[in-house]
Parts: sequence; structure tokens; C-alpha cells
Amino acid sequence: MNTGIKKTLVDLLPPATVVAVVVFWASVPQSWAENTWTMVGVTAAITVFVLVLEQLFERHPGWRMNRREFFTDLFYMVLNATLIAKASNFFAEEPIKAAKHAMGIATPWAMEMPFLAQVALVVFLVEFGQYWMHRLMHNSTPFWLTHAPHHHITQLNAMKGAVGNPIELFLISLSVVAFFDLRLNAVLCAFSVTGVISTFNHANVRSDPPLFYSFFFTTIRNHSLHHSVPYEDTRCNYGNSLILIDRIFGTYREGEADVVGQEDRRRLSIKEQFLFPFQPLIAMVRDRRGRSMSVGN
Ligand SMILES: [Zn+2]
Ligand SMILES: [Zn+2]
Repeated sequence: MNTGIKKTLVDLLPPATVVAVVVFWASVPQSWAENTWTMVGVTAAITVFVLVLEQLFERHPGWRMNRREFFTDLFYMVLNATLIAKASNFFAEEPIKAAKHAMGIATPWAMEMPFLAQVALVVFLVEFGQYWMHRLMHNSTPFWLTHAPHHHITQLNAMKGAVGNPIELFLISLSVVAFFDLRLNAVLCAFSVTGVISTFNHANVRSDPPLFYSFFFTTIRNHSLHHSVPYEDTRCNYGNSLILIDRIFGTYREGEADVVGQEDRRRLSIKEQFLFPFQPLIAMVRDRRGRSMSVGN
């Protein structure tokens, strides 16, 4: 195949996948949406598809998948779909729904909107909240300590968007979507759309979608720059899926990075990722213990 045409087709993979998930959720019956396994199946299909693309259209040899990376990433995918989702539902969605019910608030107008408008509303609500939470994480030390493990990853791959300290994963999962009455298909469609975009923007795939997509949605170019090694260079392109929000609030930066990580680019183990926010506390306890021992001596 002509290399120009092949490049164009590879570049169009992210928008084509977004269209495919929208068509899927717009056409399946409500009973499918109510079955949890449908969402699990869609997420798994997106992930497997992009993992295969990593093998076919590699972006950087330094990001090539290996067993250790694969199983670490898979662990976080399962953690997000189980414990983090349950925590988010228990501490955020259910209380929002209960408060809404107690105050007698309803938003029937949202349910009346066309399917695509409902999807767009959910994408915007999720992304607007995540943008400010993410920006806070890059501007406040306690929040940064929860987010830093995501930046300590030393290569980018399809499932890397799921990797992070559980506190961060919980904070980033919070949204006000439960406040609105919406079609379940539209809500799940929006989650799948942000899932596709976030999978591609962490993936080792050489797709550089055209401006009709990259003006609005985050790509691997913009997000790899966010994963740069110098800390100051990470303070841009906060939008998980909607880079448009960075353009509006002046945090958008053009460019890309192939060397990613933090500090000396040491890869953290799952245990280190879990303990990372408590490092100052652990150091303080160790320091005190060390001092009391030297006094004892
Ligand atoms: Zn970040
Ligand atoms: Zn990331």
C-alpha cells in the first residue's frame, strides 16, 4: 500500500474507534446497557484492539511491551473496574443521587436531549472535573504525592492510563454526572468515548490524528509531553480526553516526548506506587526512630 495512504489510515484509527463505540452504544438495547458485562466487554475489546495496534504500528521501541509492564497494567485495569469503581459509587454517586432525591431535584430536560448531546454533556462534565483535579495535583504537594506514581511510569502503553496510586485513581474518578437524569446508554457511551481517547493517548501507537480530532481531543503527542521527565514540563496538557479545555484555560502546549518518567526515571513497583503519598510520613518516622536510637546509644 502507498505509504502516504497507510499513514493517513493509521492516523485515523483513534477517531474511527470513537465513531465505532458511539454507533455501538446508540444501537444496543437498554437491557444490554443494564448488563454490567456489556461495559466490561467493550472496555476489554478497546484495550485488546489498541494492544494489537501497538504490535503492528509501534511508535517508540523504548515503550515496547514486556511481561512485567503487561501484568502491572492489567492489575490496575482490574483495580479500577472493581474497588475504585465501588468506592466511587459508594462515596460519590450514591450520596449525590440521595441528596438529589431528598431535595426533589430532577432534570427531565437532560433525558429529552438527543443521544449525542447527552454523550457530549457527560464527556464535558467528567473532563471538566478531571481537568481541575489534575491541575490541582500538579500545583499542590499533598495532591501531587498521590499523582506522582502515574508520572513515574517509564514507558507509555495502552493500559497505562489506569496506572496510579489508588487515592489518585479514586479522586480522578469523582464526577457530578449522577446529578443529571440521562439515558444509561448515553452515559456508558461517554465513558467508552473517554476510554478510547485515554487508551490511545497512552498507547505506543504511531497514530497522529488530524486537527479535526486533535483540536478537541487529547492525543499521544500532547499527553506524552505531559509525561516529560523535567517536572516543570509536565505542567501542561492536563485534559485527560478533552484537550480543548487546556486550549481554553491557557495550559495547552504543543510538542511530544519519547523519554518519559520522573526524577531519575526509576520504575516504581506496585508497593512503591501504593506507599508513595506516605513517603514524607515514613521518612519522618524513620528519622525520629534513628534519632531516638542514637540518643539511646
Ligand atoms: Zn499529570
Ligand atoms: Zn498519563
